[in-house]
Amino acid sequence: MNVQPEASHFVDGAWLEDEAGTAIPVIYPATGETIARVHAATPAVIECALASATRAQAAWAATDPVERGRVLRRAADLIRARNRELSELETLDTGKPLQETLVADAASGADALEYFGGLAADLRGETLRFGADWAYTLRRPLGVCVGIGAWNYPTQIACWKAAPALAVGCAMVFKPSETTPLCAPRIAEILVEAGLPAGLFNVVQGAGEVGAALTADPRVAKVSLTGSVPTGRRVYAAAAAGMKQVTMELGGKSPLIVFDDAALEDAVSGAINGNFYSSGQVCSNGTRVFVQAALHDAFLSRLTERLAGLRPGDPLDEATNYGPMTTEAQMRIVLGHLDRARAEGARTVTGGARMDRDGFWIEPTVLADLKDDMACVREEIFGPVMSVLSFDSEEEVVARANDTPFGLSAGVFTRDLARAHRVVAQLKAGTCWINQYNLTPAGLPFGGSGASGIGRENARVALDHFTEVQSVYVGMGRVEAAY
Ligand code: NDP
Repeated sequence: MNVQPEASHFVDGAWLEDEAGTAIPVIYPATGETIARVHAATPAVIECALASATRAQAAWAATDPVERGRVLRRAADLIRARNRELSELETLDTGKPLQETLVADAASGADALEYFGGLAADLRGETLRFGADWAYTLRRPLGVCVGIGAWNYPTQIACWKAAPALAVGCAMVFKPSETTPLCAPRIAEILVEAGLPAGLFNVVQGAGEVGAALTADPRVAKVSLTGSVPTGRRVYAAAAAGMKQVTMELGGKSPLIVFDDAALEDAVSGAINGNFYSSGQVCSNGTRVFVQAALHDAFLSRLTERLAGLRPGDPLDEATNYGPMTTEAQMRIVLGHLDRARAEGARTVTGGARMDRDGFWIEPTVLADLKDDMACVREEIFGPVMSVLSFDSEEEVVARANDTPFGLSAGVFTRDLARAHRVVAQLKAGTCWINQYNLTPAGLPFGGSGASGIGRENARVALDHFTEVQSVYVGMGRVEAAY
């Protein structure tokens, strides 16, 4: 498969190249080979993207919302029809196995476009009475928005940001992570093929400085970032300087709580999905697995048995169910965390080392005999590392689960549904799962509290985050004045 894109950027409805920009090699994480090359956006490319988005946005906002929705739904159909090709591209960009990308990436992007396509014509305001007078509110698109993506889900992140923005009449300039530049421009191309006018979804490549230049531009009304907490702080501060709105989808260290009455197989499946899917490079992963004391040993031994079913291998082979880290840098960060965990006294139940193959592979790792103040329990690792902790009472586990600055997600496995709801109501987390983990349908709000972020993606609430309220007061009588 030739993955070299026609050009680095997709701007104003067409591929755009400017070789003056810094060259960025695209490295296939499963082998370490360079498979393509793009160039970072130069100031000229950034200007072209922002100018075309600004030009196109007003007419798009004035377009019949039914038509806006139709464009998004056509794009969803095109993405589904090309699912295999887009999934292969996602696999080459990220290293995630095709077994995953065939169901989780382009498919999730299509779901978002279809969902927001259906909602485009349903933007609602309120009607209010004030005596004989009355008022109404309108939701107006914010204008030109910037999307900035992380490297773990390049197709999904582009679609999750584009779909609500375009549905309400905004334009977006999107910057993928420099390490996974291949997928987002293909989505931009498909949107144009589906009938999206030129300029409304532009993709420009580059590292943090390109994101910073976009964030600082006065034409930009909002920035939606998916990334780490430190980057979130920087981008939020830069947006604040321009009084811009933000959505911040940041990192986490989420608790997954397994009570001793839980269905063991389901709890183990939830922990596997919530730690080793995408080789652990998922923001909402339940990486602090609290297991009630009576079930703790059985949980660990069943987990170890189930990990025998793991098949690392060629990510393009559909039988492979475990892939590499997306970047060499991230692999080294994870290995550093493992060294520190061992130095702090953690017991490695399984894994714990780099795999002996080309590319950036780390064994799926389970750590036990941990204390809550160890770095591996407190810090986001963003790799295939599960920390298993034991607890006794419900009250204790709620306090320990909440003892973190993060607040992205949480999971509870128990057969006692009253307890499940009681516990979830006390957890500081934007998204909770009961007897399930990490499912994120387009109709369910997703996002974090605390250090994990601001705002929500998906669901109706995302429409609010790309619009602002305009209030209109209607006087029905005479106007009185003091003099
Ligand atoms: P980073 O925070 O390193 O980068 C995120 C994006 O921001 C990249 O495109 C990056 O560019 C860009 N960026 C960096 N600095 C700036 C800046 N000053 N101004 C504007 N943009 C900037 O995150 P990673 O890509 O390493 O992704 C991993 C992180 O993302 C994890 O912490 C994870 O938890 C989080 N994440 C959160 C999700 C959520 O929905 N809550 C989902 C997925 C991941 P570049 O890297 O190209 O230099």
